[in-house]
Amino acid sequence: MVEGHEVVVLDDLSVGKLENVAHHLFSDRFRFVRDSVLNEAVLEPLVRWADVVFHLAAVVGVKYVVEDPLRAIRVNIRGTENVLDLAFRYGVRTVVASSSEVYGKSTHVPLREDNDRLLGPTTVPRWSYADAKAIDEYIALAYARQGLPVTIVRYFNAYGPRLDPRGYGSVVARFFTQALRGEPLTIYGDGQQTRSFTYVSDTVRGTILAGTKPEAAGQIFNIGSDREITINDLAQRILELTGSRSEIVHVPYSEAYGPDFEETRRRVPDVSRAREVLGFEARIPLEEGLRRTLEWFRRTVLASLEVADECRNDGVGAFFAPPALSGRV
Ligand code: UDP
Repeated sequence: MVEGHEVVVLDDLSVGKLENVAHHLFSDRFRFVRDSVLNEAVLEPLVRWADVVFHLAAVVGVKYVVEDPLRAIRVNIRGTENVLDLAFRYGVRTVVASSSEVYGKSTHVPLREDNDRLLGPTTVPRWSYADAKAIDEYIALAYARQGLPVTIVRYFNAYGPRLDPRGYGSVVARFFTQALRGEPLTIYGDGQQTRSFTYVSDTVRGTILAGTKPEAAGQIFNIGSDREITINDLAQRILELTGSRSEIVHVPYSEAYGPDFEETRRRVPDVSRAREVLGFEARIPLEEGLRRTLEWFRRTVLASLEVADECRNDGVGAFFAPPALSGRV
């Protein structure tokens, strides 16, 4: 538990997994509630009880937003409104998780918190996520004007252990799973688009600072690494790290996300405000973060017999098997 605090987690487990917090479940300072931010009756006592609310509940991931925009819009706007209404009612300090996606397809490098946003037409469902998160920010800022100590963090492609091996919401998860299974790595588009991947412990530290530094109230912060990498290079790194012989395939965006799709070509944060106000800087270099993430993916992806079997059939088991599994493959 962070610095001895008591923590209550509210999660509907629509994507998250209980096993991700299993190591806390027997602590008397930890409580898990399986429910939704849309359920105000459940939310109310939890917010009333809290000293700080970290509001991260959302439908995240381009693929999931594109597949069911209505659900994403509902959860992401209504959920935040519920949390902030209650936080305001009880005067509880709150951090609202927003996203670098709010910058849309802006070509500005690096992206500063007060830069203009550039979004495509409303017929492109992807941008509904950016707009929903922007509405969340507007609500938070409106409450800040009325005195609520609320801070907005814009995450830049967080990754690390406990990503969903099915690839939910992250190219890193998809590439590791594909590489470990010996399946082709699917790069969408030409792979020249860039992202600034941020290791999860850095994202968490930035979030906690945003919720604890008094000067952070009423402000927006980019929380991310400013190390930029193309998706082509990321795929290459992951192949090298895993030792996988998977091939790389380029898949048209229309195949991955349907016909109405637009992409963010570059995404690099300006982190000076976070550095100055929060004392935050991403510490874990990409290579180190990917190594740690791989260790976790090896344990979880390869630990499933189904995958181990696939490796054996492909004749690649010996190549990828961690020592603990080598007897089985
Ligand atoms: N991407 C890819 N192959 C995949 C999944 C994603 O090439 O299997 C690309 C995606 O088009 C984007 C980048 O990787 O350019 C990051 O995608 P992700 O979904 O992780 O996050 P985003 O930044 O798009 O929200």
